[in-house]
Amino acid sequence: MTKTYRAKQVTAPGRLELVERPVPTPPPGEVLIAVEACGICGADRSDIENADPAAGRVPGHEVVGRIVEIGAHVPQMWQKGQRVGVGRFGGPCLECSACRSGRLQLCRNQPVMG
Ligand SMILES: [Zn+2]
Ligand SMILES: [Zn+2]
Repeated sequence: MTKTYRAKQVTAPGRLELVERPVPTPPPGEVLIAVEACGICGADRSDIENADPAAGRVPGHEVVGRIVEIGAHVPQMWQKGQRVGVGRFGGPCLECSACRSGRLQLCRNQPVMG
């Protein structure tokens, strides 16, 4: 596997530049995905126009790709080579009041992609 990947990063409000970044090692509970396709939506547009360039933001949170590395403690249902899709939010926390009442879509503790 390559040691770097290319991404379009916000370098100034409204400006994207091609950058090389080191390929991360997935931390416990996470997988590394090789992105095959990525949508850009209105939320990304807002992020591009309003992002703090110092944050190094790479827009695009509607991703389809294949799992290429698996972190520790990832359930066995996830395997290298599987095609997966990712949405804007990383999943409900299952602990907040919204989650405990079964309204997972209202969880305010979800990690956000990108
Ligand atoms: Zn979106
Ligand atoms: Zn929650």
